[in-house]
Amino acid sequence: MNFSGLSALVTGAGKGIGRDTAKALHASGAKVVAVSRTNADLVSLAKECPGIEPVCVDLGDWEATEKALGRIGPVDLLVNNAAVALMQPFIESTKEVFDRSFNVNVRSVLQVSQMVAKGMINRGVAGSIVNVSSMVAYVTFPGLATYSSTKGAITMLTKAMAMELGPYKIRVNSVNPTVVLTDMGKKVYADPDFAEKLKERHPLRKFAEVEDVVNSILFLLSDSSASTSGSGILVDAGYLAS
Ligand code: NDP
Repeated sequence: MNFSGLSALVTGAGKGIGRDTAKALHASGAKVVAVSRTNADLVSLAKECPGIEPVCVDLGDWEATEKALGRIGPVDLLVNNAAVALMQPFIESTKEVFDRSFNVNVRSVLQVSQMVAKGMINRGVAGSIVNVSSMVAYVTFPGLATYSSTKGAITMLTKAMAMELGPYKIRVNSVNPTVVLTDMGKKVYADPDFAEKLKERHPLRKFAEVEDVVNSILFLLSDSSASTSGSGILVDAGYLAS
């Protein structure tokens, strides 16, 4: 992939899938803005990839996000990746966890995409937005009522954005991975028996690798997917076919 001459913004770029996405975009020639919450992660990322511009903000805070990203320069490629996976049984779900989850996982996608899309429209350039969702937008597991609902919401937000931004040549898609063993994904091993059984239910008998998700994100950002919008790529080791 060659993204030379293009600017990219990746949220949740401090760790996991977002970090490797930011690194891959940087290696492919893009000018990268890396947004995350823990400054130490951004400092080490900027050291690893000189030229990456770090922005430290809690995306669950609307006003702070507006302040941090309100005057962001031109962006051609946006990856909405930041999310929290706060697990609670449905019957014990709290307002705090529900609000925090929707603010970070859904509202920030709307807010950051609005800012970026306005810039694309004003500049009259085509753009591509990828929302990092999950296969739990389509199926769910115990403890994921709220998290799963945020990802279900991303399915429709992706379609709505694709519909309204399409006339401006802005494409919007999602990637929907199964478990990836990042800090977030490792939580599945809180119950090793469940984790192993879950893995075996995948037709490919494995979870997904960070690299598999990054490759699908890069494909959707690139012109190789020029006629794809409002869609989602499952990176689920076949789970939804099982
Ligand atoms: P990680 O928890 O490993 O990394 C998430 C990154 O997002 C961290 O750098 C984190 O920063 C940042 N982030 C979280 N909340 C905020 C916030 N409020 N403001 C700014 N940055 C924030 O997660 P993954 O890499 O595993 O997940 C990336 C995406 O992939 C998420 O959308 C997730 O839902 C999705 N996904 C993950 C799966 C998995 O099994 N790992 C499976 C399917 C989908 P900090 O640590 O400082 O909070």
